Amino acid sequence: MLTDKNNLIDQIDAILPQTQCQQCGFTGCKPYATAIAEGHADINQCPPGDEEGIYQLAELLGVKPKPLNKTHGIPKPKATAFIDESSCIGCTFCIQACPTDAIVGAAKQMHTVITTACTGCELCIAPCPMDCIRMVSVQKEHPLDQHAKKKAANLARARYQFRLQRRAREKQEQAKKIAQKTMKKKQANVATADDVARKKAIIQAALKRAAAVRVKGVTKQSI
Ligand code: SF4
Ligand code: SF4
Ligand code: SF4
Repeated sequence: MLTDKNNLIDQIDAILPQTQCQQCGFTGCKPYATAIAEGHADINQCPPGDEEGIYQLAELLGVKPKPLNKTHGIPKPKATAFIDESSCIGCTFCIQACPTDAIVGAAKQMHTVITTACTGCELCIAPCPMDCIRMVSVQKEHPLDQHAKKKAANLARARYQFRLQRRAREKQEQAKKIAQKTMKKKQANVATADDVARKKAIIQAALKRAAAVRVKGVTKQSI
């Protein structure tokens, strides 16, 4: 049963354009595919997929096609992001926002876009504090054919999934580091407590010895 559902999700995801723009109201194409399969989302919420995508989804699911719900946005010509490197301050906000790891750069260094990996999702524009990212239209005169579109979607899907796995791995490593740090702190606290107890015991023993010597002295004098 679960396999049937997973198959359906994969079939829906295969139709979606993999722009990963979140305009459908979900965090990516796969989450939207999952919501459609589970009956939580309609088939007309993906602007990049446009009428053609809706028609294919309707056919797959055996339902009537319906017009694109424009509250989610309108279809736009294919574009890729361009960074004005002279204004970039290397804050990395755009890298964190990019769903396909299509931006390269490091902290305090200028950033640039790998155009073949950019889906045109526009998610990097809003977080940029320098307003130095703009979208540049591509393939105006030579629009992509179905085969090229599929190829681009497959690449975007793979990069999106790789990024999710990488982020999950980084999260795990961070949690491990925090746990190790906490453990070391606890061990250091125990060691400190042991040290304090040891010093206290030494002082008490010394005080006892001193008291015993004093008692002995008093007893001798009185004899
Ligand atoms: S392309 Fe954008 S709107 Fe369409 S399913 Fe993917 S994330 Fe959602
Ligand atoms: S570079 Fe910008 S527009 Fe291109 S995929 Fe990344 S976030 Fe989207
Ligand atoms: S968000 Fe803008 S300023 Fe920051 S690294 Fe990206 S392009 Fe540069």
